[in-house]
Amino acid sequence: MLDNTIDIIPNILGQFNLQYCSVTDGELSHIILMLPYSPYISYPASTANIDAFYEASNRLYHATSDIKNALISVGIEVVDVGHLHLKQLAECGGLGSILHNQLLATKDYGTRITLQDITIKGAYAYNPHLEVRECSDSCHACDNACPTKALTKDGFERSKCLRHIQDNPIYHADMSKRVLGCEECQNACPHNACVTGQVMPEHIARILDIDTLLECIAKGKRSMSEFMSVFGYNYSKPSWTAKLIIYSLLSAEDYTHKDAVLLLANHQNAEVAELARMYSTKCDINR
Ligand code: SF4
Repeated sequence: MLDNTIDIIPNILGQFNLQYCSVTDGELSHIILMLPYSPYISYPASTANIDAFYEASNRLYHATSDIKNALISVGIEVVDVGHLHLKQLAECGGLGSILHNQLLATKDYGTRITLQDITIKGAYAYNPHLEVRECSDSCHACDNACPTKALTKDGFERSKCLRHIQDNPIYHADMSKRVLGCEECQNACPHNACVTGQVMPEHIARILDIDTLLECIAKGKRSMSEFMSVFGYNYSKPSWTAKLIIYSLLSAEDYTHKDAVLLLANHQNAEVAELARMYSTKCDINR
């Protein structure tokens, strides 16, 4: 570690207009980066409902790569330590406070934030003191808003959370139009009263047009390059995305996308192909 590292790190991070904290653990320091985002006010009828979180998360991922390179270029050793509990570290470093719904709430952006981490060799601690006060015991706004009762006064049951279910898509009657994300608990949270929403940008609405997206999926991963540039590699798996979309159409009882879904009827993934044919049959029944 260089003697002047403590001076260099804030200068580098300052160039990226992000908030952050840093927690020192033995010989390592974990820098937790935070990017706030504005949720979409609404979704155009023809779009796959993917929350604004995912676009912001991908932006922060790329900014984190740039920061790592900048740190390395001045002689700071960046270490790969695998998966870290980012929310716990963020709370420990004063970026915010973990709420009953397991989300990190911050002073100015509520829970509308995304996190990434960089671990470096050497001691660098920084606490921005952005903690929030816990809601009172009588506030059960998120419990009441949760469509699946994943949140109750007894705590959070991950397996019932729609965001968790989307990791391994299955049909769920409460999924409705959601393709990626569920914001009901966040919409109800008093900590988010300070956050203003945004109209979905036109280029994102175009990428998320359901028929266009299904056409891209049918052509294979390469055709999802625009989607990938906005939402990142991890969320651009054709079979997985196809299942999320078809299950959400079934859950929302939206039978207006037969032609586009039928492009997947002979998909190499047998589950996707069967789902596409089942959706097509439902379209005929509900015509
Ligand atoms: S994201 Fe949705 S399903 Fe999950 S806890 Fe919040 S309201 Fe419930």
